[in-house]
Amino acid sequence: MHPYVVVNVAMSADGKISTRERRQVRISGEQDFIRVDRLKAGCDAIMVGIGTVLADDPSLTMKSEECRTYRKALGLDVNPVRIIVDSSARIPHGSAILNKGEGKRVIAVSRRADATKISALKNKSTIIIAGDEDVDLTALMDELSSMGIRRIMVEGGGTLIAGLLDAGLVNEIFTFIGNMVIGGKASPTLADGGGFIKESSFPRLSLLEARRIGEGILLHWKVNDPEQKEETG
Ligand code: NAP
Repeated sequence: MHPYVVVNVAMSADGKISTRERRQVRISGEQDFIRVDRLKAGCDAIMVGIGTVLADDPSLTMKSEECRTYRKALGLDVNPVRIIVDSSARIPHGSAILNKGEGKRVIAVSRRADATKISALKNKSTIIIAGDEDVDLTALMDELSSMGIRRIMVEGGGTLIAGLLDAGLVNEIFTFIGNMVIGGKASPTLADGGGFIKESSFPRLSLLEARRIGEGILLHWKVNDPEQKEETG
């Protein structure tokens, strides 16, 4: 059984998750940050694509003392395992995600990653090799499952989320829609990649909740019939 995958993204009113220059923008507010931190605290791992690491340099650590205390009380590492999907192992060694905060890291590469780059990263992270070109996300999920990872929060970006949706690996999606228009046809969205062509291939969603948070709205979706249907663990 694959891990249960929850995507969380903040987008503008026009569906953009950053600017056309891929510059990080503040879309949600304090109240939503607290929600996201709590969502993270309940997960075994947080996953991002290398595009997000290069664009935003996030640390993906637990921010609030409340969530840190909660995880410690459960005997868990303060920070969930941080997973980076990076087929050619191009992550900079100085990235915040590899250096800030205690906890485990996993870098998922493919067989096209250079062996010397992989060995140089081994002191910072567990390396999983899956796939020949891009990372084989299904094989990666199998491997993560065998490491005891049951619940993953995916923080983006749009290319990774599209890949996960395409592989039928997403169970739930939270989208916070903020009160601004970013615009730009090249600005990233929730699901970039090549796009789904046939209507029959569109991932279909069921709305679980729509809630106002400050000046924005939170939509909570369940993905209908992803490859794995039930939460594990
Ligand atoms: P991304 O989704 O973070 O990473 C995509 C990269 O992952 C691919 O280009 C590829 O790079 C690698 N990858 C390897 N195997 C893959 C597979 N099977 N499927 C998909 N990707 C695979 O990058 P992005 O689309 O450029 O998104 C970054 C943007 O999203 C930034 O502008 C950031 O600010 C924004 N963002 C916004 C939010 C939000 O909530 N508003 C959250 C996160 C990110 P390689 O070929 O090198 O492996």
